[in-house]
Amino acid sequence: TPTVVIVGAGHAGGTLAGMLRQQKFDGRIVLCGDETHPPYHRPPLSKKYADDEFVQWLKPEAFYADNHIETLLGDPVVGIDRDARTATTASGTVLEYTTLVLATGAAPRTLTLPGSDLEGVLSLRTLADATLLRDAVHTGSALAIIGGGYVGLEVAASARARGCEVTVIEREDRVLARVASPELSSVLTEFHRDRGTRIITGAEVREISGTDGRVNGVALGDGTEIPCDMVLVGVGAIPNDALARESGLECLAGIVVDGSARTSDPHVLAIGDVTYRLHDTLGKMVRLESIPSAVEQAKQAVAVIMEAPLPPHEVPWFWSDQFDLKMKMAGMVGPDTRAVLRGNPSESSFALFHLNTDGIPVAVETVNAAAEFMAGKKFISNRTKIDPAALADPVISLREAVL
Ligand code: FAD
Repeated sequence: TPTVVIVGAGHAGGTLAGMLRQQKFDGRIVLCGDETHPPYHRPPLSKKYADDEFVQWLKPEAFYADNHIETLLGDPVVGIDRDARTATTASGTVLEYTTLVLATGAAPRTLTLPGSDLEGVLSLRTLADATLLRDAVHTGSALAIIGGGYVGLEVAASARARGCEVTVIEREDRVLARVASPELSSVLTEFHRDRGTRIITGAEVREISGTDGRVNGVALGDGTEIPCDMVLVGVGAIPNDALARESGLECLAGIVVDGSARTSDPHVLAIGDVTYRLHDTLGKMVRLESIPSAVEQAKQAVAVIMEAPLPPHEVPWFWSDQFDLKMKMAGMVGPDTRAVLRGNPSESSFALFHLNTDGIPVAVETVNAAAEFMAGKKFISNRTKIDPAALADPVISLREAVL
């Protein structure tokens, strides 16, 4: 029987297993994970960890058995033999495959600073991490967050809402420097500061200090000392591509795949945060870390395995929730793009359209503006030329702004 072995029981791997059965794949499916849980949603870990709502399973408990998906959890795959077409787990189970799918995700980048291994220095990727964070965040406690990315700001928002003292320490001169426009960064910075979060940019962390093995502060290069009870390190993630590298698959900033999730070995596919690919709407090599991208690649893998037509490529998009701000972003802001604001940031509902030099939106960032998001994503995908003046005037409909 044809056998699909999926390495990594996360969002991409779990989605793929379900979709294969939905598309009537009748071979064997083995889903291997090194966490002890079946797949779950990671987005709530940073947004809802304080509310006990953060455990959201990807599928109901009985789903895997009901759909004849074999799960091997808490037993990581430790080696791949591409000639023999086998994968071996830590406990010694040898799995033969027809198609191997690497969906190993990414792991939080760690710091090598003095004090990084003190108790109370946390990172956030797993249910176990979120549980530690939840137990530490409460009124009167002080949290220092190293890294002003989406995860850092989401944790900051939910910690503030719980009455925690929060300081965000960012090395760049603005938060979200790698992923958002300067305009959005500045609106968000102000929003967080208005709610009592201290945000320090352009800051170099010199060391994490502690007593008796437990963290009690962060020291910055300029001498600033930030007392705290815990530190969240949110400085990005690195792809879990060791298995792929060891087995000689082509890897750069992740496992290199084409637009149909194929690696350099025709019997091995790779999907999700671990992959690095040329994205046609962005026109460059990227390693995307988002649910929509993981799901898109799971669909590609299904098409390859089932020998079905490939789904059309999607404009990459992402969401974030901070306080009562529901944000959705699509495309990618470039160095030559021009931002057009529609709506009013002070009313917490607006959209930033980023137009290239031809007047075509290549990115859109929206806050509590679902219609603008949908329209913007479509403009990017269809390469629609827009009149910037009309776009900036909320009285004029988006349809009328199309040139
Ligand atoms: P993962 O979900 O990380 O799954 C990979 C799995 O593989 C892990 O369980 C890992 O333990 C396992 N694994 C690794 N190596 C092995 C091995 N050798 N053997 C067996 N198993 C292995 N995205 C959004 O779009 N919107 C959001 O709002 C958002 N919020 C996020 C908040 C947080 C706190 C985090 C951490 C991520 C967030 N993301 C968000 C990103 C999103 O969760 C990821 O893009 C998505 O989980 C990627 O799926 P994946 O399957 O590639 O990786």
